[in-house]
Amino acid sequence: MYDNIPEKVTNIIVTGKSGAGKQPRIDVLVEEFELEQLSTGNIFRSYLGKFNEFGYDGDLDKFWDGESFIPDEEIAEELGTDDPDIILGMKAKYFVDKGLFVPDFITNQLFKAFFKRKDHRNQVLDGYPRTVDQAKFLMELLEDKNSKVDFILWVENEDDMIVERTVNRRICPECGKVYHLIYAPPPDGKCELCGVDVILRSDDTEDKIRSRLKEFKDKVIPAMKYLEEQGIHIAKVPGHLEEFTPENVRKSVLSAVEYIYG
Ligand code: AMP
Repeated sequence: MYDNIPEKVTNIIVTGKSGAGKQPRIDVLVEEFELEQLSTGNIFRSYLGKFNEFGYDGDLDKFWDGESFIPDEEIAEELGTDDPDIILGMKAKYFVDKGLFVPDFITNQLFKAFFKRKDHRNQVLDGYPRTVDQAKFLMELLEDKNSKVDFILWVENEDDMIVERTVNRRICPECGKVYHLIYAPPPDGKCELCGVDVILRSDDTEDKIRSRLKEFKDKVIPAMKYLEEQGIHIAKVPGHLEEFTPENVRKSVLSAVEYIYG
């Protein structure tokens, strides 16, 4: 069974529309290849959470001039703090809450800092890269650090299915575990691992989901094409399975990986 799959990989990219069902597939890869998940979405959400806790309730439009953010010193003065985490949280919130991608110059720098923590190896890149510019940045970084991405796992799903899944999605604010109100309900509305109330992501409303789906078509697909042209293989798996059991998810992922090595 799965004789062609290598025992060790360096890094894997997992892509797919937001809400396609990436997390259960990532769980399989993390376990199978002993990797760590690096999710730019989770990183942005953690900064956004810090900013929300900080409690600024003014309009954020004043910080963005249409092309870039005003200088950090001016942002700090308006917010009343120069804490870089709070300033980054504001910048993340400005885009995430609109269902838009965070600009590349912010995302790339943040990704670089987190990717380095495990020496640019043994990671599942979840939700990065998402633009051609990010893909180029990653390829240069990998070359510089003598590392690589072994393959891309692409979780496919129809737009309508995504909308249905996403409005019913709930996540644990502590550990990021994902629940679904109908298919995988959180017991008593709480995370079974942390015991805290699960929440609806602030960007999981229908208009923001549609906006993210457009971002996917316009930006992520060209980025994946670019990576494929660089020689990185893409393994596609269906996000929707007739019988959604852990065993079926595992089979679907490993067969797709086996196929590209076969
Ligand atoms: P996700 O949890 O992966 O769906 O990401 C949630 C949100 O974080 C996205 O809608 C974007 O606003 C932002 N985000 C995450 N990853 C990236 C990325 N690679 N580039 C730009 N924005 C991102």
